Amino acid sequence: MQQVAPRNYRIHIVPDLTNFTFAGNMTLLVEAPTAIEALCLNILDLDNFSCAVELNGHFADCTFKTDTEKEELRLLLPRQMEGAIRIKIDYEGQINDKMAGFYRSQYASSGETKHIAVTQFEESDARRAFPCMDHPAKKATFDIIMDIDKDLVAISNGAIKEETPLDSGKNRVTFEQTPKMSTYLVFFGVGEFEFTRDAEDPRVRVATLPGMKSYATFGLEFGRKSLAFSEDYYGIPYPLPKMDLIAIPDFAFGAMENWGAITFRENLLLHYPDITSKSGEERICEVIAHEIAHQWFGNLVTPADWKYLWLNESFATYFGYGIVDHYYPQWETWQQFLWGSTGSAMARDALLENFAIEIPGGEHVVINVSTAPIIYNKGGSILRQVEGYIGAENFQNGLQDYLKTYEYDNATSQDLWESFEKASEQPIGNMMKSWIEQPGFPMISVEKKGNKLQLTQQRFSYLPADFDQNWQVPITIQFFSGPAKSERLAFLMDSARAEIEIPENTDVYKINDQQTGFYIVDYQDQKNLEALGQRVRDQSLPPEDRWGLQNDLFSLCNRGDAPFTAYLDFLDDYQNENAFLPLLSISNNLQHADLVMDAEKQEIISSLVRPWFEKVLKDIGFEPAPNEKHTTAILREQLLWHAALSGSESAIKFAGDQFTGWMQGKTVHPDIMKSVMQIGAYAGNEQTFEWLDQRFHSSKIEHERMNILLALGCFKEKAQIKKSQQYILDAVPARNQFIPVVAMASNPYAIPLLWDWYVTNLQQIEQFHPMLYERVIAAIIPMAGLDREQEVKGFFEDYMQNTDKATDVIRLSLERLEINLRMRAAS
Ligand SMILES: [Zn+2]
Repeated sequence: MQQVAPRNYRIHIVPDLTNFTFAGNMTLLVEAPTAIEALCLNILDLDNFSCAVELNGHFADCTFKTDTEKEELRLLLPRQMEGAIRIKIDYEGQINDKMAGFYRSQYASSGETKHIAVTQFEESDARRAFPCMDHPAKKATFDIIMDIDKDLVAISNGAIKEETPLDSGKNRVTFEQTPKMSTYLVFFGVGEFEFTRDAEDPRVRVATLPGMKSYATFGLEFGRKSLAFSEDYYGIPYPLPKMDLIAIPDFAFGAMENWGAITFRENLLLHYPDITSKSGEERICEVIAHEIAHQWFGNLVTPADWKYLWLNESFATYFGYGIVDHYYPQWETWQQFLWGSTGSAMARDALLENFAIEIPGGEHVVINVSTAPIIYNKGGSILRQVEGYIGAENFQNGLQDYLKTYEYDNATSQDLWESFEKASEQPIGNMMKSWIEQPGFPMISVEKKGNKLQLTQQRFSYLPADFDQNWQVPITIQFFSGPAKSERLAFLMDSARAEIEIPENTDVYKINDQQTGFYIVDYQDQKNLEALGQRVRDQSLPPEDRWGLQNDLFSLCNRGDAPFTAYLDFLDDYQNENAFLPLLSISNNLQHADLVMDAEKQEIISSLVRPWFEKVLKDIGFEPAPNEKHTTAILREQLLWHAALSGSESAIKFAGDQFTGWMQGKTVHPDIMKSVMQIGAYAGNEQTFEWLDQRFHSSKIEHERMNILLALGCFKEKAQIKKSQQYILDAVPARNQFIPVVAMASNPYAIPLLWDWYVTNLQQIEQFHPMLYERVIAAIIPMAGLDREQEVKGFFEDYMQNTDKATDVIRLSLERLEINLRMRAAS
């Protein structure tokens, strides 16, 4: 990296929303510590440059070269220069439709198609909007100016400083200078935005497009709460005078933490009364909390390089759940964290195609289905593990120290360890390194020898491989004696083996107390496993442990260490289970097994699932009850759909009646809307398809549109599946094309039709947004390949020779296919 440091960018943008182009004019002040002859800036898809450099108080033309391959603009200075250097660049660019850089987003208003233009820069797309040193460590201040049509509104990171009418009839909007920050966090946008301001904290506003204002209140309130929690917990006030939460129709990611101007997919910020479900509400809160945590973790203190991206995303994931739990403890958010974050991270981290949380040599990091579960979910789980180890107070003090020490600057993992060590007075650096710098996680095997437990650790992977890895594992064990007494032991297992004395009168022990540790346990001691089963049955173990026991066992089956029937046998002890976490996980595991196994095993699974889930549904009620728990609502949605898939007549009848009523204009409770639509399509026909199509086009509500797209992936009839596949290509907006495909990949009737669709339409599917194309591949390969193993494997071997598109995702998806094939063969 060149030693030159940017100090200030003054960027003046004139967007043209008719021709989708923009003119840019930028003055950049840099500081060169030693004499330089040339200055390199990043550019992508910008042109018509004219460059000048300031000499003796005047700007003189400056020659330059562009290198498209390297994405560089190289200014050749008229003489050697050092110290403060000021340059000026005029240029032009496109307001593209790629959901990256400065792009357009489409919406309908009074029968017309209209556009807004907004930016999305992480991680390396600021260069599509202005020439810059596009690296997180190259921090500078930004002055943004925009000339916009009079009837439009401009938003940027800073508050508006002044607005001046121009002779051209436009308005010139000048924004306050930003704090020192990275290029990927810059935002500017223009459109028919309307603001809703919070009454209690006027810094917080929600920006919506016409007709959407009434949906803003819910997100606004939680934005205020998240900001209040963050300022208090981190001990550093939010430095900007305003925080805008902006709903954007076309958006590739979920949300983006631009400093002071956070952008969201509409359904992750706007709350639609009678349509947004309880789980939708939770997701809105979690995403808002996540993005607001970033205002500190990422925006104030920024990773020194992309390899440390986990310093942003792991904390945002952790606090995304933590802030929600703080305000709504009754939502059982940490149980949902185990399910949504820890469980999914382990399923990803058990693959051989893998990398460490701190990505080795990661100059660029693409956030996708390969990296996100590691950087976000595993990282968040490891933070929870370390908080458990050093205690909540030391954890908070460590974070406050880290944020204060590196504010407006950059940090590495090492800097974080030092703050944690200072706060906790414990040498935890090495422990953290063992989790952050190496891929994978340990399986702890436990054997009983006399009055001792022998623990050994080895890296857990589904496919066989030799590893020589150890972790410093915070082990916790509950020793139970009799019905009421227990003793908890905690220690750091820092080598391959450990031996523990069993307290007298122990009749059963459970390792990884309440599943806060990021490891799985293999009980070689069958008697103990049976005794634990008894404690599952009488529910004397908490739901977290009941979840962990069966989920660990399912992982061992996936690996071939235990026959699948051992898992089914163990589920005997869950027949009276009523807690959301273990039930949701069991449903998910069985659904996966059902898709993978042969017909004989499928029948065994269905005949287990049908009566069991019907009974649970009867207990909690097919219809949502007033004031019921959030987790009950979430469980019902999943069980209804799964029961229907297994052939439950009562589930199909209930949802079918609801669906018919809905088509006739009756309302459906938002908490069952998703499964009603899924089952409606499942049992539906041509008429159902046409009705969904019509509703999709007339609906203005993204939450509903996403449910419809999910339903399109749930048809049972071949004709409708094929129509839906064509619909994905012809009628679904780019941001959502992956939704029906992912649904089809868990629909046994659609799976056989996925491969031909993919191969036939490859050219068009490859044009999806890269991250969304990867989601499609990750959904298709492990399932579609089950019945055409050689064809799929052969195809992608050739494919990877010819293109580097999605290589990491293809590799991990082929590995998932291999695991599925082994599971089928072993059953
Ligand atoms: Zn994030």
